[in-house]
Amino acid sequence: MEDSNYKLTPLSELGEFGLIDKITEGIETKNKSTLFGIGDDAAVIQPGGSKVTLISKDLLLEGVHFDMMYTPMKHLGYKSAVVNFSDIAAMNGKPKQLLIGIGVGAKFSVEAIQELYSGIKTACEVYGVDLIGGDTTSSASGLVISATVIGEAEKDDVVYRSGAKANDLICVSGDLGGAYMGLLILEREKKAFQADPNIQPELTQHDYILQRQLKPEARTTVVDILAKEKIKPTSMIDVSDGLASDVMHLCKASKTGCVISEEKIPIDQTTFDLAKEFNIVPTVAALNGGEDYELLFTISQDEYDKVKEIPEISIIGYMTDASEGERLVTSDNNSIELVAQGWDALKKK
Ligand code: ADP
Ligand code: MG
Repeated sequence: MEDSNYKLTPLSELGEFGLIDKITEGIETKNKSTLFGIGDDAAVIQPGGSKVTLISKDLLLEGVHFDMMYTPMKHLGYKSAVVNFSDIAAMNGKPKQLLIGIGVGAKFSVEAIQELYSGIKTACEVYGVDLIGGDTTSSASGLVISATVIGEAEKDDVVYRSGAKANDLICVSGDLGGAYMGLLILEREKKAFQADPNIQPELTQHDYILQRQLKPEARTTVVDILAKEKIKPTSMIDVSDGLASDVMHLCKASKTGCVISEEKIPIDQTTFDLAKEFNIVPTVAALNGGEDYELLFTISQDEYDKVKEIPEISIIGYMTDASEGERLVTSDNNSIELVAQGWDALKKK
């Protein structure tokens, strides 16, 4: 689209139905539980046997959840789908179907919406999910994306936030804080660009954290690993708001307290180095940054030997009695109260 001769198609040229046809063209379904997808007034799905249906929805608003200035449409589509898949993974299930509602302002071209859909479709391919419907309308303000995911799990495999007990070990997959550092880099480059549009963004050395921010993945692989090792977490959540906030959600739902050990929090080297550059304590990025979409879960101590051998998983603390509160043991061995300052869409910043 760099070519100035390339003509973008205004949405008005296609209209709602033309646009729906264009973005849903060639979509085929592959999951057994999807009996009928796009093309009628409703999709038809049927989870088999002893399976249960998991449903979750996310709403993404331009200017609130994403900034069009540095968010490529394709990445945005991918992320909109994946953050929903992550919610299903957090229940120890597998995402199977996806519905996408979009509200589009007149400033968008047909090609831009197709880009958005190419990201959504890629995510569906990668995660084996069927896109089975949605809704399309115009938006008077910015771009609105509403995604509903439907997942499946064996009824007995479902993991809730509420099952943790005192002394259970707290575990997290992957590493934390990277998505937040990616956001800081993008915000920094945006400011530089606004001050002087001739400045080229300095993004090249930051691939890992930019990917963590712009193109996150859902940890369905961790769900597979846990199943293979026959480990059923006692509670689980995905890290969308920041470790502090999300572990507190587990504590609240499970009526426990917790102790998190600062030095055990997994942080990637690039995240660590950049945090230093920004004068941020790296663990603060992990505790309060959010959007890492790792899985945070608790396991019974009996599973310790199995879990400690799994490279994708770190043990970062343990649950306590609710009366002991939520605590962080710092690297210099102080025990301080854990405070959540992560993302809260309705709180003043
Ligand atoms: P209705 O008027 O019954 O809501 P629509 O004309 O809105 O039907 O949609 C026609 C079909 O296209 C439906 O199967 C719907 O789920 C699907 N659809 C509409 N918009 C989208 C979209 N943005 N993404 C995916 N599927 C869509
Ligand atoms: Mg409709």
